[in-house]
Amino acid sequence: MRSPKPHATSRYLAEDGGSAPAVHRGAGLADEVYEAIFARLMALKIPPGARITVDNLVRELEVSQTPIREALGRLEGEGLVVKTHLVGYSAAPQITRARFEELYDLRLLLEPEMAGRAASSMTAPALKALTGAAGVNLRGGGTDERARYPQFARQDAIFHDMILEIGGNGLVRETLAHQHTHFHIFRLMFHALVTEEALDEHEALLAAFAARDVDAARLAMRAHLERSRDRLSPAFDQ
Ligand SMILES: [Zn+2]
Repeated sequence: MRSPKPHATSRYLAEDGGSAPAVHRGAGLADEVYEAIFARLMALKIPPGARITVDNLVRELEVSQTPIREALGRLEGEGLVVKTHLVGYSAAPQITRARFEELYDLRLLLEPEMAGRAASSMTAPALKALTGAAGVNLRGGGTDERARYPQFARQDAIFHDMILEIGGNGLVRETLAHQHTHFHIFRLMFHALVTEEALDEHEALLAAFAARDVDAARLAMRAHLERSRDRLSPAFDQ
């Protein structure tokens, strides 16, 4: 039912490095439709748990069913959409507070250690790829925040996954990839601050990687995750 991996896995380091690993590269119709539905899910225009009707999307997006079904299948693989027998598609339910806390516990146990290992084995091409992926290119620039936010959510997923890849433990990487952490947590709060602050923290991580400073990388990752958790947890008090 679900594809084994999110679409944003592997091949980072094989790319030409340079700018951010493009997700919109050569966007054809299928990609455009995917992006449109992805943005609606991340901006909660399709709220967690809500039914998703293919016919409605056909009308809204003015395309045929085929690219929509394709996009929904891809989103299902990413954990954002759930397909239920005889019911059809719906947006994945919001994570619970307990699950959210477990998720951050898991990340705090694994990601600082992996960041330290990534720092110790950092190479120039890996650092270049990480710098491209950190999302700092999304900063400011008068870009519409609503357009920028879903992009940042994906960029954050790629950045963290890349650190795990460089960290070198495939099982840790798969375990975290299967949680679809980023898409779930970013749906919790739609706020500019989340992006700006997280970018500062990514820069601190990049500095530690550039210095190949294991302790600094561990600390920077720990601080980033703790702040991220604290930024998002008020969403459960609403
Ligand atoms: Zn991050």
